[in-house]
This record gives sequence, structure tokens and C-alpha cells, in this order.
Amino acid sequence: MTDLPPPSKKKLGLVIDLDTCVGCHACAVACKEWNAGGIAGPLTDERPYGKDPTGVWFNRVHSYEVAATDFARPAFDPGGHAAIGRETAPVSACSGGSSDSLATAAAQPAMTLHFPRSCLHCEEPACVTVCPTGASYKRAEDGIVLVDEDKCIGCKLCSWACPYGAREYSQVEGVMKKCTLCVDRIYNHNLEEAEREPACVQACPTRARHFGDLGDPQSKVSQLVAARGGVDLMPQLGYKPVNQYLPPRARRAGAATSAATAPEPLDTAALPPVLRWLDRVLTR
Ligand code: SF4
Ligand code: SF4
Ligand code: SF4
Repeated sequence: MTDLPPPSKKKLGLVIDLDTCVGCHACAVACKEWNAGGIAGPLTDERPYGKDPTGVWFNRVHSYEVAATDFARPAFDPGGHAAIGRETAPVSACSGGSSDSLATAAAQPAMTLHFPRSCLHCEEPACVTVCPTGASYKRAEDGIVLVDEDKCIGCKLCSWACPYGAREYSQVEGVMKKCTLCVDRIYNHNLEEAEREPACVQACPTRARHFGDLGDPQSKVSQLVAARGGVDLMPQLGYKPVNQYLPPRARRAGAATSAATAPEPLDTAALPPVLRWLDRVLTR
């Protein structure tokens, strides 16, 4: 089994804003594109155009339809019991939340929630401690969790140990893979400084993904988490994920929205003659 290093001061990770993520999959595609070569590649696909395609994706985006809630039950239901549709919302996986988040809202209209999922670079990752060969490891200097494919024997113990489904097994290579936090970008001095951040962060068109040091309370990501009530996924398991999620802000009720945006009745008698004539022509 593999030991963990002492907790690092620097804790690099992602902050993902569920309020502004639109589920476009740009992050997933950019991740696949960047990581299909270099230290993590190849990221294989099997039957990519078949009925049941499989393959290696470090970042997957899941979309959920969340049912409207009333005052009788919590809107941001961590068990996802209030959700309907293709999948149930993983809301029970979150803790805390700001006062304007769904975590504390009393009533909410139905909504679609997009949930990007990749490795959370946990502080207490059992995916590392179960590894019999030392292939899975956590870096002492910045907390990034990686897999040394040369040491991996493909036993899949780590994927059983990860409660977040963040491990990806390559059927073709017979080794485990996972999000590297783009370690080959963020320290890459061949790139412009502005480009030294994960490919998924760079690609997100709504800037719903943020990268930084969550071990530094003064960093932009830490301040963003504090301001928006960022949450851990499934904190009760004790893995202490570094990545944080920003809960969606409360939505306005549909009825209120309709009332607010309903067109006011037009007093045609008060219009100039030309506009009265135009109104008569157009309403025939
Ligand atoms: Fe390990 Fe899963 Fe945590 Fe990533 S999310 S560090 S794979 S337990
Ligand atoms: Fe370690 Fe590889 Fe087994 Fe995972 S699949 S536990 S990385 S040897
Ligand atoms: Fe993929 Fe890099 Fe984003 Fe991880 S940090 S999900 S490897 S693009």
C-alpha cells in the first residue's frame, strides 16, 4: 500500500461554478485534446461511433433535471431525491452553501444543472493508499494526485476506492489514468505565463472553471470560494477534496418571471396615426 506525504501548504485545484456552467462540454473536449498526447496520452476510445461508445475521459459533464421544489422540502437536496429526468442531481454530495444558494433556498422552480466531474485531488485520497505498487501517488509539493503508468498493474483498486468516479481505466493499455491537473501545462515554461493553467479552465466559454492555490486563503480561488459559499463533495467520507464547487444561485420562480416579463397592454388610442394604422395592418 502507498503512503501519503504530509499535508502540503500548497493545494492546487479547481473551483467549478455550477451557476454559470452551461454544459457545453468545451472543458471535456479541451481536456481530451490536451491530454491525448504528452504524459497522460493516449486517451483511448473504443467504438467511438458505435451504439455504446467507451473511452478515457478525465473530465465528464453530467446534466441533471432538478424538479421544482416547494417550502416542504430542501431545494438543494443532497440526496438528489427531488430530481427528475435522465439522472438525479447529486446535490447530497455537497455541504454548506451561501445564503443565496440552492443549499438554503426554500422554494425553487425546475432547473437544469450541469455538473463537470474530474479528480478532486483529495487531501486524504484512499485511491493512493490502496495502491499496491506506489503507482498512485500524491505530490508533496503541491498536492496533485497522479498515476505513474510504468508502475500501474491495472488492478483497479484505486477506482474502487474513489467515491467520485474520477479514475479512468484504459482497456487498451491496461493501466489507470486520471486528471493530472494539467501538470504539464501549469509548470510549462515553454508556454506564455497566461497559458499556464489547465486546458479545461482555458477553454471554458463562461469562465465557470477557476484554477489556483486553495491552500492560500488570500488566493483568488480561495476568496471566490469564501464569497460564494463553495462546497466539498461528500465531505462525510473524509477524503477532503481540494477542488470546490460553487452552488447555483437561487432561481426566480417561473410565475414571478412570467409576471415580470409579461408585455404591458398597448393603448393604441394614444399612438400617433401612422402607428395606429400600422398596428391595424399587423394585427389583421
Ligand atoms: Fe483519488 Fe478520486 Fe480523490 Fe481523485 S477524486 S484524489 S481519484 S479519491
Ligand atoms: Fe495502483 Fe494501478 Fe492498481 Fe490503481 S490500478 S491501484 S494505480 S496499480
Ligand atoms: Fe483535464 Fe487538465 Fe482539466 Fe484535469 S485539469 S480535467 S486533466 S483539462
